[in-house]
Amino acid sequence: MILRMSTLFLRTLREDPADAEVPSHRLLVRAGYIRRAAPGIYSWLPLGWRAYLNVERVVREEMDAAGFQEIHLPALLPREPYERTGRWTEYGDDIFRLKDRKGNDYLLGPTHEEIFTLLVKDLFSSYKDLPLSIYQIQWKYRDEPRPRAGIMRGREFSMKDSYSFDVDDAGLVASYTKHRDAYISTFNRLGLDHVIVTAMAGAMGGSLSEEFLTPTEVGEDTFVRCTSCDYAGNTEAVEVPVPEAMPYDGLPAAHVEDTPDTPTIETLVNLLNSQEKLRRDDRPWQASDTLKNLIVKLVHPTGESELLAIGVPGDREVDEKRLGAQVYPATVEATTEEDFAANPALVRGYIGPDVLGEDKAAKVRYLVDPRVVAGTRWVTGANEPGNHVVDLVAGRDFEADGTIFAAEIREGDPCPRCGSSLTIARGVEIGHIFALGRKFAEALDLKVLDENGKQVVVTMGSYGIGVSRALAAIAEKNHDDKGLIWPREISPADVHIVATGKNAEPFEVAEKLAAELDARGIRVLLDDRRAASPGEKFNDADLIGVPTIVTCGRRIVDGKVEVKDRRTSERIDLPIAEVVDHLVEVCAS
Ligand code: ATP
Ligand code: MG
Repeated sequence: MILRMSTLFLRTLREDPADAEVPSHRLLVRAGYIRRAAPGIYSWLPLGWRAYLNVERVVREEMDAAGFQEIHLPALLPREPYERTGRWTEYGDDIFRLKDRKGNDYLLGPTHEEIFTLLVKDLFSSYKDLPLSIYQIQWKYRDEPRPRAGIMRGREFSMKDSYSFDVDDAGLVASYTKHRDAYISTFNRLGLDHVIVTAMAGAMGGSLSEEFLTPTEVGEDTFVRCTSCDYAGNTEAVEVPVPEAMPYDGLPAAHVEDTPDTPTIETLVNLLNSQEKLRRDDRPWQASDTLKNLIVKLVHPTGESELLAIGVPGDREVDEKRLGAQVYPATVEATTEEDFAANPALVRGYIGPDVLGEDKAAKVRYLVDPRVVAGTRWVTGANEPGNHVVDLVAGRDFEADGTIFAAEIREGDPCPRCGSSLTIARGVEIGHIFALGRKFAEALDLKVLDENGKQVVVTMGSYGIGVSRALAAIAEKNHDDKGLIWPREISPADVHIVATGKNAEPFEVAEKLAAELDARGIRVLLDDRRAASPGEKFNDADLIGVPTIVTCGRRIVDGKVEVKDRRTSERIDLPIAEVVDHLVEVCAS
């Protein structure tokens, strides 16, 4: 089929859309691939839909090649199974809920573990039926708090989700590995370089989970990589190496001191090092010796809320995303004046361990950074305005209720695996694989008979690829200031033929080439518009981003057309008679 610009349902835009912050979003809208219908919800126009279907096809071919079977489930789902796994509540505001005419609750599927599990339970009952891996490619619905960057983070988006079912742990590992390998080949084929990082399991739970991130500046995820071993992790999930506890015999007793004019950690450290009675005798105090205690409010999916105190070394901030991942499914909110007014034991700016802990004066749970091990010596709030306590020793003078990995990770921090230093980069999550284990099968009672005729709970994995997001990620990596530059397999066409001029001849040649190419299986986009100027046509061709652009223009009088490589801008003039063979070759390479 030849797509004709003269009749194509397309309007390219000269201006960037006002709401587009990242290049892929800007260009996909300007080049007429997608149109916004509502926040985080997009319509697909012919070029966009073709490109999208190409991504889908690649994903499908790779899944089929791995032996996974495609099925298709509804997107409109009943509440009951999600109730049984706890996710009806756990998802909180993140899912779209609706009622039917009888008042029954439904949701639009954010992901489908429950329904896949029930379907397998419906059909299979023996270990002989397993292992099984099934998948679908489907639109998902999540009421994202911050839809962003067009189809990169939509509220409606398409996902390929697979699920594996095994009778034992070894089977799960094998299925997980098979998916991991299939993901590597899928992303390689899509031209998306990727880093596989350890991740937090979030709503899924389970033991092992890894994300595929494609490095890009516009990504919302940050990840670390070790400079010496092969460790990589989402910063959300990076665990700080926990130091050994230290003996505290001989350390000075804790003492409360007046510390006027120390609004910042830096001014506090300066004061500590400038006064004889405050100084340490072994080395100067550092910001990392101060213990900063913050109060946040956790809101649980049930709607209940509680205050939580977090102690981190004063040279580090609490990283919101790390904290959020640690307290999931609760969400974090800032504390208010009222929260402090209701709890006078918390003296803002001077909150210290003495009042923190479930059984202490403020009655708030107290979690500290794992670096706060027994024997470490701190300067921290004394719970009185203007006062700090110096030489407060963990394990001797205070105990927290537990630890939390909430402090920011910084470039140069030690690798949790080998201790060398970490580097940090940004990326977009394009895939996520989970070894779920038995959580869903247990909740929904998916059992099979094992070899000995005994009922055993099935163990599962769940694996997702963001198909529509992958298209955005590909666009993000394949563009210049003029427009998109598609990899051939994703491009809505192989060749973009542009006919220019006032005479009929270039148009006739263009038509003839298009027909010949089409007959040889080459997908053609033909700019046969008579009213548009050559400049408009060339700009549109660059914007749309088909990898090969053929111009039938002025050189027609010499019997030649120009073939341009969109990526390199390399142009060659070819005799009309040779151009079809040449293009067939180019498209095959
Ligand atoms: P994110 O952390 O980006 O919100 P997630 O961890 O919630 O993603 P998963 O539940 O792991 O996402 O979903 C599987 C895949 O679906 C993700 O790896 C991502 O590629 C894609 N995806 C998730 N949410 C969105 C969205 N709002 N828009 C587009 N794609 C998405
Ligand atoms: Mg994920």
